[in-house]
Amino acid sequence: MDHGRVPELPEVEALAAFLRENAVGHVLARADLASVQAIKTFDPPLSALGGLEIAGASRHGKFLDLDVSGLHLVVHLARAGWLHWRTGLPTAPPKPGKGPLALRVHLESKDGTPPNGFDLTEQGTRKGLAVYVVRSPSEVPGIARLGPDALEVDRELFAALMAGRSGQLKGALTDQTLIAGIGNAYSDEILHAARLSPFKGADKLKDDELVRLFDAMRATLTDALDRQQGQKAATMKGEKRSGLQVHARTGLPCPVCGDTVREVSFADTSLQYCPTCQTGGKPLADRRMSKLLR
Ligand SMILES: [Zn+2]
Repeated sequence: MDHGRVPELPEVEALAAFLRENAVGHVLARADLASVQAIKTFDPPLSALGGLEIAGASRHGKFLDLDVSGLHLVVHLARAGWLHWRTGLPTAPPKPGKGPLALRVHLESKDGTPPNGFDLTEQGTRKGLAVYVVRSPSEVPGIARLGPDALEVDRELFAALMAGRSGQLKGALTDQTLIAGIGNAYSDEILHAARLSPFKGADKLKDDELVRLFDAMRATLTDALDRQQGQKAATMKGEKRSGLQVHARTGLPCPVCGDTVREVSFADTSLQYCPTCQTGGKPLADRRMSKLLR
């Protein structure tokens, strides 16, 4: 299982900030595709970006958006994707193949030094990293469907979104069409900070619980963002892990109360929680575990 590695709002926001500092104002010389399945669009072609100046870098939910003089290079890093800043890139195009490299972006050198750029990589065999070249970010279906951003939603809107949503809190927080930017790791952290069960119904929250959840969402995401900002893109993943209280910490003591962090497993994912902090001390049913014990 790939615990805690999926880039979510704080990581993608930090990558955008990093690119604003290091890539904006530079001319994109060339983009080399190393993994054919990563590109999801064909018009305009990737080659259309060559020779254009990078005008901005931003984030939509968990999507990274590079504004290249009005064209947009949009990236979804998926499960195990990352962006690596490179100084002094080799000019020879990368060999397409089975390695982790999906796309290499070369910037034009400004003063005769070897050109910088970045690699988009993805580990593992289940490839999900997606690259789009579009005229407007809203042409990307995943962006068009996004709900309001988790850092922009206010308390009233948040309450209305939850009240209108049936089903469990864990699913509501990670549904990008409801609220954009939160994934498996930060939803575990938010629910722990709010002292709420991941299985509680989103539309069953009392007023004080809604306030706790909203405040926990803001605090968890802004704390993570503060930790990420200013770090080198290459080292951000490790930092994400060090700030976690329950996510990917099954069997370890809860930093708040000392109880043992527990896990519920699903087909291809899992959640972690603290029984004392979140579920009145009662362990949640884990279908996989009860199946094994039957
Ligand atoms: Zn606890």
